[in-house]
Amino acid sequence: MGGFWIYGQWQEGDFHAVVYELLSVARKLQPDLKERIVVVVLGPEDRREEARRLLHYGAEEVLFFVHPELTYFRDDLYAEVLSEAVAERKPTIFLFGATAEGQALAPRVAGTLGLGLTAHCIAFEVDEEGRLVQIRPSFGENIMARIVSRTRPQMATVRPGVFPKAEPLAEPRGVLEEIKLATVPSSALRRRRVQPGRRKESPLAGARVVVAGGRGLQTRENFQKLFELAELLSGAVGATRPVCHLGWVSEEHMIGVSGETVSPRLYIGFGISGALQHTVGMEGSEVVVAVNTDPEAPLMKRADIAVVGDATRILPLLIRRIREVKD
Ligand SMILES: Cc1cc2nc3c(=O)[nH]c(=O)nc-3n(C[C@H](O)[C@H](O)[C@H](O)COP(=O)(O)OP(=O)(O)OC[C@H]3O[C@@H](n4cnc5c(N)ncnc54)[C@H](O)[C@@H]3O)c2cc1C
Repeated sequence: MGGFWIYGQWQEGDFHAVVYELLSVARKLQPDLKERIVVVVLGPEDRREEARRLLHYGAEEVLFFVHPELTYFRDDLYAEVLSEAVAERKPTIFLFGATAEGQALAPRVAGTLGLGLTAHCIAFEVDEEGRLVQIRPSFGENIMARIVSRTRPQMATVRPGVFPKAEPLAEPRGVLEEIKLATVPSSALRRRRVQPGRRKESPLAGARVVVAGGRGLQTRENFQKLFELAELLSGAVGATRPVCHLGWVSEEHMIGVSGETVSPRLYIGFGISGALQHTVGMEGSEVVVAVNTDPEAPLMKRADIAVVGDATRILPLLIRRIREVKD
């Protein structure tokens, strides 16, 4: 009974990256929450060894529900199996990645059991009563709401890419508990064929260095120089929403609540004010450098290195200097 549950979403024979991210969240919160970390996996018997691998990443238990009908994801079927498991085992917390699959599943489970659900969390804390505080942008994404569920388990979906992935442990701990289901509920869904999506991978995916630009860069031509800098630093170009809407760069470069989430080792923001809607997408950056004429801009306050100055001048100077050093 109890436990910090994570939904183990499959992706091409492994688990979706967000599962490893949720494991790092659980490990970080464990000293305060003191809940057993459990990943719940559904699938056919022959995926047992893949499921067991999660024990190397901090799962103290893998609950593996087995039936041939669970070979591929179906919202209604998976939701019923999970709802029954929750009703029977009564976890304290249940987190899902805010992926298409997690967003289809979590509300069905919450709805079936009459539970609260916080969508798209980007941070967590534990309050003095030992409850999970679920943090997400709210009210037109203008404030950070801190939400504590009244129902148990406390359920939330978590934005992928915000948290680092759990590192493997030297020694795995815990056990895999295999639950062979004799029957499963019938599903109204049949898979006819699988058509891979057309969505290209974001140019920002996995970038270790991100150089991002905002309206302070003044023109599309100035913005284009970011691509030169990104190339020199083996990085990727990010942008704020207004500059995407101005047509300076395509929307796949947008960082923030309406765009991508990045967690590079180095993020440099040129002429970016640092509105919450943008910063939620770069909060996980290790080192933040901001260049802005206004020292009071929120991104300047958040930055590890804040450079007060004209980004349209500093950007070409920086490119020239890096070229000199490299040559
Ligand atoms: C529902 C909703 C969703 C949103 N989603 C997103 C999102 O996903 N991503 C996102 O980025 N935004 C998003 N926004 C918009 C967000 O609120 C901000 O308006 C936006 O991030 C600001 O972009 P900016 O920093 O480029 O522009 P501004 O806020 O106009 O800031 C420009 C900055 O440049 C500085 N500056 C001016 N001239 C110079 C110069 N020569 N050199 C250096 N600095 C200079 C200024 O001091 C200022 O700080 C969203 C808004 C809403 C309401």
